[in-house]
Amino acid sequence: MLPLLLLLACSPSTSTTGPAADPDTHVLVVGAGLAGLTAARVLHDAGVEVTVLEARDRLGGRTWTADVDGAAVDLGAAWLHGTQDNPVASFAAAQGLDVVRDQLPWSTLYDAEQGRALGDREWDAMDQATTGFERDLASMKAQLGDVPVDQARALWVAQEGLTGLDARLATHAIDQWMVELTYGSPVDQTGLAHFWDEEELSGGDHFPVGGYGLVVDALAEGLDVRLSQPVSAVRWEDEGVELDAGGETLQGTHVIVTVPVGVLRAGAITFTPALSDARRSALERLDMGNLEKVVLRFEEQWWTGCMEYVAADLGGAFPEFYDLSELTGQPVLVGLYGGRFARQVQAGWTDEQIVQGALDVLAEIEGRAIPAPVASQVTRWTSDPFSLGSYVYLPPGASPSDISTLAEPEGDRLLFAGEGTVSTMYGNAHAAVMSGLREARRLGVTEVTTPGWEGQ
Ligand SMILES: Cc1cc2nc3c(=O)[nH]c(=O)nc-3n(C[C@H](O)[C@H](O)[C@H](O)COP(=O)(O)OP(=O)(O)OC[C@H]3O[C@@H](n4cnc5c(N)ncnc54)[C@H](O)[C@@H]3O)c2cc1C
Repeated sequence: MLPLLLLLACSPSTSTTGPAADPDTHVLVVGAGLAGLTAARVLHDAGVEVTVLEARDRLGGRTWTADVDGAAVDLGAAWLHGTQDNPVASFAAAQGLDVVRDQLPWSTLYDAEQGRALGDREWDAMDQATTGFERDLASMKAQLGDVPVDQARALWVAQEGLTGLDARLATHAIDQWMVELTYGSPVDQTGLAHFWDEEELSGGDHFPVGGYGLVVDALAEGLDVRLSQPVSAVRWEDEGVELDAGGETLQGTHVIVTVPVGVLRAGAITFTPALSDARRSALERLDMGNLEKVVLRFEEQWWTGCMEYVAADLGGAFPEFYDLSELTGQPVLVGLYGGRFARQVQAGWTDEQIVQGALDVLAEIEGRAIPAPVASQVTRWTSDPFSLGSYVYLPPGASPSDISTLAEPEGDRLLFAGEGTVSTMYGNAHAAVMSGLREARRLGVTEVTTPGWEGQ
């Protein structure tokens, strides 16, 4: 009689089925962002052979913890939006990584038109505007249909009878806080029909201590990840898949494509056979937002807290500065901007002009000359060929079902993951991880064994 241990070793794993249980399965994953690394990690931990091809010379994709003169600053995703049922939070916890609640201190609300700081009444007016706009969204959707959100905002401000400063504050709060800094999309190109419909995780915003890079490094540990290997072609047929990457051709049994929607839209990868009509028309309707950051690291801290800048022309010029001094242990401010202003800036401004533009706004808020930064970093997610934007959003005419279409496989061997494939939560780090888990399950991992995700 065989010893029990040997018997157990010979019996098929109860945690896999289908392709994942087949010893000949070799999954190729395109992209080493959160989605790709999650799928690869889960499959690898289930005993499946996996190779990850990454175009850039670094891991993490739209998470990127940079060293800005000694400060670890996240240039892409920085927050965990919610901790309940957030697979980023549970994975980080299982790795012994800490997250801290976002309790950044807000100090200044500055109105460029009047050239002065505003007070609690004005902060409250902006909060009330977002609450009121959200409350009335359903009726405006019914009344207006799928128009750009700025039309609904204009109607709402008029219906509320807001004028002068109150109208400008409401416009800033809705346009910037609810649209351009959330979706990264221009308010005049964001569709109303499905606006603000996504599901939120509870638990509040947190930062991963030390940055998202620690999560990414933990995910990638022990995986076969090949950097600087841009995939230019994917061919698939009944027998298997083949990729062209960095001058080489690789063969596998399945491929999971996790590149951003912007990269798929640009046709940077040739698929043979061609992608389905349904997927191509969904890609045409969707678009990428343009959230960008400018990081300013100073010699010493000369400011107090985070700042909100209400621009005179409502174009959203550098609307927010986050004080990351406590989080990073260094005197660091991060300017965040998106939507219309980001498209304009990213199309024509040099890095030096962006840094100077942000410094000019800070000097205006302060009402005095401010010290020059000792180091700075400007993001270019919009023009980076491996992101082509920050994350997916829905222009008028697009719907969450377009995102669901992107989650569907083509045949049995070509699979897709990424934040832009999660119709209920697109645009988030946790959506990317959820999509990686989804595709690992689709390939037959019935019981995930990766610490933090056991049993999922
Ligand atoms: C400025 C900014 C701020 C953000 N803030 C937050 C936040 O605070 N909280 C939050 O939850 N989310 C945030 N996000 C969103 C979050 O970063 C993304 O949703 C998530 O990281 C996407 O992961 P992904 O794996 O789907 O895509 P990616 O991270 O983009 O991974 C795709 C990978 O594919 C690679 N690739 C592209 N083309 C090819 C090719 N041809 N061949 C091979 N590889 C290729 C890319 O280099 C990349 O590594 C932010 C994003 C940005 C840009």
